[in-house]
Amino acid sequence: MICTSCNRDFDRKQLVDGLCQTCLKYFNEGGEINPLPEPGTIGYDNRGYVVCHICGKAYKKLGAHTYQMHDLLIKEYKELFGLCNNTKTTERTYSQTMRNYAYQYNMPEQLRITGANTRLKPGDTHLRLGKTLRLQEKMRLARMSRQNAQIRSRKGDFDNDER
Ligand SMILES: [Zn+2]
Ligand SMILES: [Zn+2]
Repeated sequence: MICTSCNRDFDRKQLVDGLCQTCLKYFNEGGEINPLPEPGTIGYDNRGYVVCHICGKAYKKLGAHTYQMHDLLIKEYKELFGLCNNTKTTERTYSQTMRNYAYQYNMPEQLRITGANTRLKPGDTHLRLGKTLRLQEKMRLARMSRQNAQIRSRKGDFDNDER
């Protein structure tokens, strides 16, 4: 007997209303079949879970699902659907927390470290000082525009949620 949701073959006794245990659990936990995200983009369901490009189900961590259900390592999956290697395929709250964490702690720390390397040493010329200042100003501007873009995209997320 085929599970009507995931099309995998099961013993008749293992199916409930045509669904396998895995699919039954998925729907019981409030999962839905979502519209497939466009290749190259990540889609989230109403719980903030990441939508699978193959079956439309959404998971907290897509990697475990693609491996179990589609025999794809997350690396292969990303390649197949035009996603960058560093694209987050974990639920939105989780990736957002990690992203915020990176911004609040790691990024300024990173900048301090970078800054330390470019900081002037005795004997450096004024020319060098000008360059360093310009670089720091550029980094500050880049940081600001990044943050603005992030605020905008986050606002967009909320707008979407309300729809
Ligand atoms: Zn199933
Ligand atoms: Zn899937």
